[in-house]
Amino acid sequence: MTYDYIVIGAGIIGVSTAWQLQRAFPGSSVLVLEKESRPAYHQTGRNSGVIHAGVYYTPGSLKARFCKEGNIATKQFCSDHGIRFEQCGKLLVATDELEQGRMAALVARCAENDIAVEELSAPQLRECEPNISGVGALLVPSTGIVSYTEITQKMADLILQGGGEVRFNCRVEALHEQSDQITVETSNGSFTGRFLVACAGVMADRIVRMLGIQPEFKIIPFRGDYFLLGAEHNRIVNHLIYPIPDPELPFLGVHLTRMIDGTVTVGPNAVLAFKREGYGRFAFSLSDSIEMFTYPGLLKVLYRNFSVSIVELKNALYKRGYLDLVRKYCPSLSVEDLHDYPAGIRAQAVTKDGTLASDFLFVSSRRALVVCNAPSPAATSAIPIGGYIVEKVTVLAEGISSGAPWREN
Ligand SMILES: Cc1cc2nc3c(=O)[nH]c(=O)nc-3n(C[C@H](O)[C@H](O)[C@H](O)COP(=O)(O)OP(=O)(O)OC[C@H]3O[C@@H](n4cnc5c(N)ncnc54)[C@H](O)[C@@H]3O)c2cc1C
Repeated sequence: MTYDYIVIGAGIIGVSTAWQLQRAFPGSSVLVLEKESRPAYHQTGRNSGVIHAGVYYTPGSLKARFCKEGNIATKQFCSDHGIRFEQCGKLLVATDELEQGRMAALVARCAENDIAVEELSAPQLRECEPNISGVGALLVPSTGIVSYTEITQKMADLILQGGGEVRFNCRVEALHEQSDQITVETSNGSFTGRFLVACAGVMADRIVRMLGIQPEFKIIPFRGDYFLLGAEHNRIVNHLIYPIPDPELPFLGVHLTRMIDGTVTVGPNAVLAFKREGYGRFAFSLSDSIEMFTYPGLLKVLYRNFSVSIVELKNALYKRGYLDLVRKYCPSLSVEDLHDYPAGIRAQAVTKDGTLASDFLFVSSRRALVVCNAPSPAATSAIPIGGYIVEKVTVLAEGISSGAPWREN
């Protein structure tokens, strides 16, 4: 049969998209293809579980818009489907004057992004978080926590209930786009569809290449190591505790995160990974590494951020260095408090000139659309991103029905 829509990837972006395609086009046939044995196996199931508010993002960007909408939509989805979430709020803690200055810039950005925040003095911070020290903080009340694995599983169930299919252990190996359909060859058979949407996370650039398009970026994997605090620390904080980020760096910094299961994690750092889906500290793939280190974009990133990269690498191998990052705002923690916890790998698009793509990024052909850069806060933003893809696919379909000329790739 020819499916109306084939979606690659059963992470939260893939299932959110498939679920919304099915709702937008009732009666259409939807197939999700996933190479792993279950949904949310990669980024979606290995993150901090934070429902972000949208504090950091450039006003007018897709990230700013979708994060704000996604914060509301995610909580609504959870309420509608009986999924636990908690709106515990987050504190961005300034530990010195420099960070206080950066905090003022964040307050201005929140105003532009229409995100409600409250500035706390040092005594107010101490009152609401006795274990946290700082010279001031920014309270973001709308931030929450959830399990994105649970949301993804629920959306996959809804796809099945709506008559769609989700096939696991199907690795997409080749794509053939023709004038009237697109054929998807997998490790477990071949499928044809009218449209293809690929939400392949860390493999996005490889999918673009399968379409015969030369991507103008490469996905670079950045590992995020976490530690789990012992159960005696489950109440160490009342909010999520974040550092004030360095505006020059793309990641948010090591934070103390209350998880929805009642535990508290510390992390994630951001270390260049030597394997796209290798989660161990020493995971290594020769082919992935050759591909990365022969890419001028990555070499430029490393050149510009040499000292930061070395410090990140050191802290990834040296627990005490990692701990120092947290002790800046939570001085009572010691090395013995940090227990092993699974890491995650961020899929970050980097362009040839060494720019880390900051916004969500999409590439399309006539019958296919590939999500190319969907790092944090993409889990929070998954529902609006899925809605946006539905709109884009509708435009592609209109282009085809208007008889726009077909070009073989
Ligand atoms: C450490 C870390 C912390 C984060 N914290 C947060 C947070 O607190 N809040 C937030 O909003 N976001 C957070 N994020 C970001 C968020 O997790 C991701 O942006 C989001 O999960 C991306 O979803 P995805 O569906 O695009 O990718 P993924 O979840 O990686 O899914 C992609 C899927 O595609 C499949 N796939 C790939 N290639 C193929 C192929 N050839 N054939 C078949 N299937 C294929 C993969 O197996 C995978 O299941 C974090 C990310 C990381 C790594």
